[in-house]
Amino acid sequence: MIKAQGYAAQNAQSGLAPFAFDRRDPGDHDVVIQILYCGVCHSDIHQVRGEWGNSTFPMVPGHEIVGRVTRKGKGVTKFREGDLVGVGCFVDSCRECGSCKEGTEQFCTGGMVLTYNGVERDGKTPTFGGYSDVIVTDENYVLRVPEGIDPAAAAPLLCAGITTYSPLRHWKVSPGQRVGVVGLGGLGHMGVKFAASFGAEVTVISTSARKEADARRLGASQFLVSSDPSAMAKAMGSFDFILDTVSAMHDVNALLGLLRRDGTIVLVGAPEKPLPIAAFGLVMGRKTLAGSLIGGIAETQEMLDYCGEKGITSDVEVIPMQQINEAYDRTVKGDVRYRFVIDMKSVSV
Ligand code: NAP
Ligand code: ZN
Ligand code: ZN
Repeated sequence: MIKAQGYAAQNAQSGLAPFAFDRRDPGDHDVVIQILYCGVCHSDIHQVRGEWGNSTFPMVPGHEIVGRVTRKGKGVTKFREGDLVGVGCFVDSCRECGSCKEGTEQFCTGGMVLTYNGVERDGKTPTFGGYSDVIVTDENYVLRVPEGIDPAAAAPLLCAGITTYSPLRHWKVSPGQRVGVVGLGGLGHMGVKFAASFGAEVTVISTSARKEADARRLGASQFLVSSDPSAMAKAMGSFDFILDTVSAMHDVNALLGLLRRDGTIVLVGAPEKPLPIAAFGLVMGRKTLAGSLIGGIAETQEMLDYCGEKGITSDVEVIPMQQINEAYDRTVKGDVRYRFVIDMKSVSV
């Protein structure tokens, strides 16, 4: 076994604290990855705090992992020692269902194996995530991170990046379209960068008026404060596509009103409670309310390559592991520009 040092939550109230555990020895198709950085996703917070009702403990969170390959199994063909690689939200899947065969493993009907808060394909071994110094992962679920981009700023691409890239591609957001991005957080700021780079005219729809200058710097041409009734009224019926990244309860009906006829709103944010939807907001104007979940391995690689070409990364605040509990509180308060990333050198200090 390989000794790993990480941070874990012991229950939904405990917060995170040092935790030593074992990783499996690499099998034929595994790579051993020395973790350099791990992003802090709001999903980590939902799960550590038991907000989605499916948490298992102890939990080592973290699914925005960037590191270097230090060893590999003898059957590994895609990676070599020293390669800069990433691991995202899942580390395995059934490999046989229609979704796996077409490269949308996130929808595996056999059940994808989550990077943490899940069990391996044996049905019992718990998975532990990236708030740790080492991970052992099957090469088929490992991504190549382009050299030349800052590895700390690349880490959030593994979840926040692909979660916003995938729906923008799936719904074919294209030049000239009017796109709204709701919530300027970890996901939202990546959504703005991607939508702007695809040529859309981007508006950030935010509760925080103080984020306007950042929104424009990130690529938005307009900024809408969702609590301003006259600005919201003026924007009614004007968007082709809205990407909703909000992590808490909010008024989706008001957002439906912002769509033009046949417009689409895609939820990627996952608040803990159901959101009420008024049927009239959908039927008037034949609007579509949809959802999207991260992205498959092939599309995640496509996104990373695109980021390498275009020089797109996340805006990050790098923290030592010891500041993680404070970082969670700050994220929930919206006090992060725009993603915390843990420097894993700090984990065993
Ligand atoms: P985050 O960094 O905390 O950003 C969320 C943003 O939502 C905040 O910055 C804030 O933006 C806005 N917001 C927060 N509370 C709000 C409220 N009460 N009303 C309206 N707006 C509010 O979180 P994140 O890491 O981007 O994650 C966002 C959500 O996506 C989480 O629920 C997470 O679990 C989920 N997620 C889903 C997927 C998927 O595959 N579908 C993947 C990753 C994460 P403003 O200050 O601009 O209003
Ligand atoms: Zn995430
Ligand atoms: Zn499958």
